Amino acid sequence: MPAKGCIVRRDLSVVGGGVIGLSCALAAADRGWSVTVFDAGAQRRAAHVAGGMLGCFGEGRPGEDALLAVAAESASAWPDFLARLGDPAVRVADDSLLVAASSADLAELDDQVSFVRAQLPDATITAESAAEMRRAEVTLTRNIAGGYLASGEGAVDNRRLLDALRSAAEEAGVRFVTAEITDAAEVPGDQVLVAAGLGTPQVTSVGELPMRGEKGEILRLRRTRWAVPPPARVIRARWHGRPLYVVPRADGVVVGATQYEAVGPDDRAPQAGGVADLLADAGELMPGLRTYELVEVAAGIRPSSADGLPVVRRIDDRVIVATGHGRNGIALAPWTANRVAGLLT
Ligand SMILES: Cc1cc2nc3c(=O)[nH]c(=O)nc-3n(C[C@H](O)[C@H](O)[C@H](O)COP(=O)(O)OP(=O)(O)OC[C@H]3O[C@@H](n4cnc5c(N)ncnc54)[C@H](O)[C@@H]3O)c2cc1C
Repeated sequence: MPAKGCIVRRDLSVVGGGVIGLSCALAAADRGWSVTVFDAGAQRRAAHVAGGMLGCFGEGRPGEDALLAVAAESASAWPDFLARLGDPAVRVADDSLLVAASSADLAELDDQVSFVRAQLPDATITAESAAEMRRAEVTLTRNIAGGYLASGEGAVDNRRLLDALRSAAEEAGVRFVTAEITDAAEVPGDQVLVAAGLGTPQVTSVGELPMRGEKGEILRLRRTRWAVPPPARVIRARWHGRPLYVVPRADGVVVGATQYEAVGPDDRAPQAGGVADLLADAGELMPGLRTYELVEVAAGIRPSSADGLPVVRRIDDRVIVATGHGRNGIALAPWTANRVAGLLT
């Protein structure tokens, strides 16, 4: 028994150093846990390639009521989460424009917005005419049918976020080990959090965990000297039936993303067709992007659960799992960190 008045620091091992593992590690360290993160490296990290949108209203899809509720809860936790990191440059946009190319695209967007408003009556989404949208973002094409402004729904620079999380965690005493873990029993600690994204079900001790990999191509474009500036807001478009987004960065934009079933856990080579579609659609949506430099073509795999909801739960009295965040892992990071902190308590 510890002496009276003595503080006992309990040890937590986190398997996975993506956005979920890092957010949970920081939350646990802030609550007095002694934390070590074991991570296999950035190569298989979806958070490294992601767009960084903090999607809530713009992600709402009819039928996904529970996911929308979780996203709304996470959205309300973002201001404190960012304040904890102390790097204002992590946030790259405050609002999103939801843009439709045609009347058919607009009808789909209307359905989406009706669904969101029915679930979240206080949702800050307002209809915008094509002219209003072009006034807000002058680099948008004239050929749009209309859309909505989602106020307060912005984006972060995902790579800057990962760096800021790691720095904050290191300052809070978190240790980092580069290693691929095959069994939670391999790592020390009173508690183990397995937050290894798509790699989570391969870690023995986690048990049966059905997951799907949803692959997506994504591009990074850099502004050149004579090019138009990047948009100030996230532009999320329905472009002739295809989803498309342009997310600002300090030096350019991220253009994404395709979405289809990965054929295996290492299926990360970008397909020519997906890249061609993104380039063509982005060039139509914002013609000024055609003079940007194409500096990165990548593909990642979204770690998705069977029902599309994040899996954050206790497996046994030592192991907790946090994975299955699919297309929303960045947006859902603060919610997940709070939930894991609750499970640890
Ligand atoms: C193209 C694309 C665009 C996206 N855009 C967005 C977006 O705009 N907004 C948003 O919210 N989300 C977006 N996402 C989804 C988001 O990236 C994921 O949901 C999120 O990264 C999941 O976080 P994670 O920490 O669970 O997994 P990851 O980010 O994949 O990290 C998992 C980590 O675990 C490590 N690991 C794996 N197995 C082991 C092991 N056995 N031992 C040790 N370490 C291991 C890996 O090396 C990796 O570092 C996008 C995803 C893709 C692919």
